[in-house]
Amino acid sequence: MTQVISDRRDVDFVLHEQIGQVDHESFAEFNKKTIDLIISEARNLAIKEILPTFKQGDEQGCTLENGKVTVPESFTRAWRLLCEGEWPAMCDDPAVGGQGMPRTVGSAALEYMVGANSAFMLYYGMTHGAAKLVEAFGDDTQKSVYLKKMFSGEWGGTMLLTEPEAGSDVGALTTTAQKNADGTYTLSGSKIFISAGEHDLCENIIHPVLARIPGAPPGTKGISLFLVPCSR
Ligand SMILES: Cc1cc2nc3c(=O)[nH]c(=O)nc-3n(C[C@H](O)[C@H](O)[C@H](O)COP(=O)(O)OP(=O)(O)OC[C@H]3O[C@@H](n4cnc5c(N)ncnc54)[C@H](O)[C@@H]3O)c2cc1C
Repeated sequence: MTQVISDRRDVDFVLHEQIGQVDHESFAEFNKKTIDLIISEARNLAIKEILPTFKQGDEQGCTLENGKVTVPESFTRAWRLLCEGEWPAMCDDPAVGGQGMPRTVGSAALEYMVGANSAFMLYYGMTHGAAKLVEAFGDDTQKSVYLKKMFSGEWGGTMLLTEPEAGSDVGALTTTAQKNADGTYTLSGSKIFISAGEHDLCENIIHPVLARIPGAPPGTKGISLFLVPCSR
């Protein structure tokens, strides 16, 4: 069963024969030996630690008690190992805690992990996406507060777009953001269908939230984006 996650010969063929050595000075240390080691370690983690979470995830699921969500037990150990191995920021900038790997190698490593349990890896995907958003659009203070913690997996991330009456038509959202005297905003509204929106894998979950500032134009043109940390 395990070998069908991703065929190692296919992976090696694509990385070494089809694509070959990535000719860029920032990837100089990623020679064939290093790449093979990374792929073997990713495969080991996927098969030994992540794959077993798939069955328990299905059988046990998440539970909600007193407003707190608890993930299946096995997810906690797998998340810790994922973070300890610094897998969440494989291809990211070393300046923010990444390993600076070529994206080709990171994608091959991720294929094993996502193939082992895509529901589990969604926590990584949401977090990484939110971190990339801060990296691309955040100011210096936001970057220094959030990036290392999110790229390391210590803090989680999400995206809060959808509302009961605003799905495909995201511009119909009614969540408002009122400016406070200290420059922060108070958000009011209801979001639904938020993947990884609440869980106990991280001490803090960072929610990028779409909302409208009073007086902003209707539709998508008047939407702003806010970062809302939510410690457990
Ligand atoms: C598994 C899952 C995870 C999700 N995770 C997140 C998340 O993390 N964060 C988040 O913000 N949201 C999340 N969502 C919500 C997702 O973004 C919305 O479901 C999506 O935007 C569609 O909105 P809706 O469900 O309200 O459907 P609607 O927008 O009401 O659409 C219903 C149907 O009408 C059709 N339709 C809509 N508009 C038109 C049109 N103009 N013309 C023709 N047909 C149309 C659609 O194709 C669809 O078939 C998630 C949804 C799912 C299923």
